[in-house]
Amino acid sequence: MTEGTKAPSDKACSDKSHYEVIVIGAGVAGIYQIKRLADLGVDATVLDGAPDLGGTWYRNRYPGARFDSESYTYGYSFSRELLNEWHWKERFSGQPENLRYLNYVTDKFDLRKYMQFNAKVEAAQFDEAGHLWRLRIDDGRELTCRFVILAVGLLSIPTPPRLEGMDSFKGRSFHTFYWPHEPVEMAGKKVAIIGTGATAIQIIGEIADKVGELTVFQRRPNWAAPLNNSPISDQEMADIRSRYDDIFAACSRSPGGFEHEPDRRGFYEATREERLALWDKLYGEPGFGIWLSNFREIFTDEAANAEFSAYIADRIRKRVKDPVTAEKLIPRDHGFGVQRVPLETGYFEAYNRDNVHLVDISETPLDASPRPACERRRVTTISTSSSIPPASMPLPARSTTSTSAALVVKNCSTNGATARRPSSACSCTAFQIC
Ligand SMILES: Cc1cc2nc3c(=O)[nH]c(=O)nc-3n(C[C@H](O)[C@H](O)[C@H](O)COP(=O)(O)OP(=O)(O)OC[C@H]3O[C@@H](n4cnc5c(N)ncnc54)[C@H](O)[C@@H]3O)c2cc1C
Repeated sequence: MTEGTKAPSDKACSDKSHYEVIVIGAGVAGIYQIKRLADLGVDATVLDGAPDLGGTWYRNRYPGARFDSESYTYGYSFSRELLNEWHWKERFSGQPENLRYLNYVTDKFDLRKYMQFNAKVEAAQFDEAGHLWRLRIDDGRELTCRFVILAVGLLSIPTPPRLEGMDSFKGRSFHTFYWPHEPVEMAGKKVAIIGTGATAIQIIGEIADKVGELTVFQRRPNWAAPLNNSPISDQEMADIRSRYDDIFAACSRSPGGFEHEPDRRGFYEATREERLALWDKLYGEPGFGIWLSNFREIFTDEAANAEFSAYIADRIRKRVKDPVTAEKLIPRDHGFGVQRVPLETGYFEAYNRDNVHLVDISETPLDASPRPACERRRVTTISTSSSIPPASMPLPARSTTSTSAALVVKNCSTNGATARRPSSACSCTAFQIC
C-alpha cells in the first residue's frame, strides 16, 4: 500500500437511520446539493467515505496540483455574497486554496452539520415493497431514504499501478491521490515518475528543479500547452467581481463550461498567416483558450487538426533542446485536443535540465524483477491514478486515463549506493533506480 492511504478510525456516527434524501459524496457537487436541500428544508444528509469534505481537492495534494479552469469560473455562482467575499489569489489556484475555499463555503452556509465522514456507501438497493432505498455503510449501519443523489465524482477512485514487485519495494512510495498531508521531502532525492498524463505533467514542472534526479517513465506522450498562470491582484479581483454575470453567461454558452469560446471564423476562410497569428496569440494566453478558442474544425476535420498539431509539435521542438527527447514528447497516435489537454508550467523546459531523464517504456520496458546489485533501501515511491499495465505487458494503443503518474524517490547518496542514470542499455524500473 502506498503511504497516506489509511483512513482515520473515527467513524462518523449518527443515531438517525432514515432521511428523505441522502447525498453520496462531499466534493464540489455534494456540497452544492446539500446547500440546495437545506435551503428547501429537506431532511437530508451527506455521506462521504473520506475523513473530510472536498473530494478531489481533499485527496490530490501532490506538488503542482491546481486548477486548469480559471479559478473564478470554477467557484460557485449561487451566492452574490460569496462571490463578493472570496478573493481568488491565482488565476489557476492550487489545491490548498481550493480546499480552503470549499471549507469556507461549507462553514459560511453552516453545512458541515449535515455531513458524515468515514462513511463509505458499500451498497444501495431499492426496496420495492417499502418504496425506499437501503444503503449499507462500511461502519455497519444501514440507512434508508426516499431519494439518493450520487455526487461521487468521476475521479474519486484511483487506479494504482499493478507492477510486479511493488509489494516487496523497500522504499517510500506514494500515489498522488493519496498524497500525505505532511510535506514530502524530495530535495536531493532520486525521484521517478511513472506516467505522463495531466497529473504527472503538473508534478514534473513543479519538482524538476527541486529534486536531485528525476526520471520520467513515459508510455505515450500527451499533447500539453502552457497554463500561463498569474496572481490575481485586489484590483483584478474587483474587476472580475464586476464581470461575474458576463463570465458565467460565457461559461453557460460554452460546451465545457469554460469561459473560452471558439473562433467563429472557418478554418479554411482564414489564411495560413491568420491561423498562425491566432495560434501564436492563444499559446501565450492563459488556460484552455488554445484548445477551446481555436477554430472549430480542429475537432472535426482531420487535415485542420493535423495542421494545428504540427504547429504545437514545432512549439515543443523549440522548447526542448535535445531533438531526440523532443520527438519522444510529441504524440503520434492522436491529434491535439481530441483528448483532454493537460496544461503545463515549465513542463517541456524540465527536460532541458541535466537532472531530468525521459525513459520511453516502449524502448525500455518497466521490469520490476529483482536486481540484487541495486541498493533498494531508502527509496520512496509515489504513484498516481493511471492505469499502468502490469510489468512486461505489451503496451496498449491508448491509455485508459491520462491523469496519472507514479513517483519513486530514492536517496542513493547513502550506504555507498551508486547514482546511475537509466539508459536504454539498463532495464531500470521505478523500483530500481540506483
Ligand atoms: C488534479 C485535478 C485537477 C482538476 N482540475 C479541474 C479543473 O480545473 N476544472 C474542472 O472542471 N475539473 C477539474 N478536475 C475534475 C474534478 O474532479 C471536478 O472539478 C470536481 O472536483 C468533481 O467534484 P465532485 O463533487 O463531482 O466529485 P469529487 O470531488 O470526486 O467528490 C466525490 C466524493 O464522493 C466520495 N465518494 C465516492 N464514492 C463514495 C461512496 N461509495 N461512499 C461514500 N462516499 C463516496 C469521495 O470520497 C469524494 O469525496 C480536476 C481533477 C483533478 C484530480
